[in-house]
Amino acid sequence: MKSISRRALTLYLLIIAFLIGSGFTYYNLAVNSNKWAMNRANRHLYSGGGLACAGDITDRNGNILATTNDGVRTYSEDKSVRMATLQTVGDGAGYIASGIQTAFKDELTGYTMLDGVYNLKRYGKGNDIFLTLDADICKAALGAMNGYNGVVGVMNYKTGELVCIVSTPTFDPLNKPSEEIEGMYLNKFFKGVYTPGSTFKILTLASGIENISSLDSEIFRCELGKNGKGQALIGEGYVFCSGYHRSLSIEKAFNESCNSAFAELAVRLGTEKLTATAQTAGFNAQMPKINGKISCSKSTLNLNDATELDLGWAGIGQYTTLINPCHMLSLVSAIANGGTAVEPYVISKITSPDGKNVYTYEKKEIGEYFTPSTAEKLKEYMRSNVKNNYGDYRFYGLEMCGKTGTAEISDREDANPNALFVGFSTNPQYPYSIIVVVEDSTYSIRTAVPVASKVMAAVKKANG
Ligand SMILES: [Zn+2]
Repeated sequence: MKSISRRALTLYLLIIAFLIGSGFTYYNLAVNSNKWAMNRANRHLYSGGGLACAGDITDRNGNILATTNDGVRTYSEDKSVRMATLQTVGDGAGYIASGIQTAFKDELTGYTMLDGVYNLKRYGKGNDIFLTLDADICKAALGAMNGYNGVVGVMNYKTGELVCIVSTPTFDPLNKPSEEIEGMYLNKFFKGVYTPGSTFKILTLASGIENISSLDSEIFRCELGKNGKGQALIGEGYVFCSGYHRSLSIEKAFNESCNSAFAELAVRLGTEKLTATAQTAGFNAQMPKINGKISCSKSTLNLNDATELDLGWAGIGQYTTLINPCHMLSLVSAIANGGTAVEPYVISKITSPDGKNVYTYEKKEIGEYFTPSTAEKLKEYMRSNVKNNYGDYRFYGLEMCGKTGTAEISDREDANPNALFVGFSTNPQYPYSIIVVVEDSTYSIRTAVPVASKVMAAVKKANG
């Protein structure tokens, strides 16, 4: 009896040890197999320090953006396209963390936990990734930026397809600069944050529409300051205006981007109402990851410690407020789309070497950023900005809506501001929204608006 029970005990212990041991192995396999297979020492995947045997990446018209020839990773034949799409496509070495070649490395090489790199060995290549980008629009956007640093993003506001993402500075992946230029590995559309300047007046206006029923009939004041420009006394100090507007309606104040009127409006609304409007529209929250993998930086509005004067400055997009370009594009897209924001995406499908669909993106909604009636009113006012101020001739045939912003980013007198433009076409043939940020620039009407004009002309041509 005694020896049987001892043997049984030994057996139990052995079984337990086996279970613990194999459990650990399986756990380790599940967690690390990806890293093992993806290790740069694995010669099936990499040669010369770069991604080699991966599938093709194409734009929405089938143009090659990245491919592999004889074991060497190569890119579009057009240098401008290579440079314009680099931050989205990614470099072969993985320096651009949010690039498709890094974030979707498993899919591109056809790696799965079950089969490892079996597909790669069998077919000699991985899966092909089809992007929503349009190479021609990206190229036009890079040209329109004319050497400035910044961002251009264009999205179909009904579907969420990102047809243009350009982030500068950029470089030619076939001729990488010997020294790193600050920001060249960053996709600012997904990862950047900027002071919104007057583009934030869209949010202040939205909050005014929602909370002040008599807003349309009210008169705002812009007093004459010492320098001949306008100003408004807000709490313990002044908010300064770029013009002198005397008295004006809210529509006129939006058209002329009067800081005095919008600072006063923000103070009347108070921190709670302004914050509530911004948070309903996605501020202080994480955007859904792009195609489930690429995360965006957050847009933030924090008025917790704001004085009355700070609140005034926040209402005109200064103070500590920051916007992420991808989120801001989703926000204006929601206005174009009756208040509902759709998820932006950049990969439409992924196919295996034997032609099977392994992934297809399906349109998703983020939620209602604005009520339909607020969205309608904002659209009306943004349309009147283009008609009365920026000029319909710049956006021929697009029935464009928009708002500019010139964001002060330094207290230094001689510092250059960032110039911004956000807007969208209301012509049903071209349901596209746009964001432009031109860094270290001048007034937005001189830089960001002309860039938007050129890019939207390319959008129109590409969808002709
Ligand atoms: Zn003014």
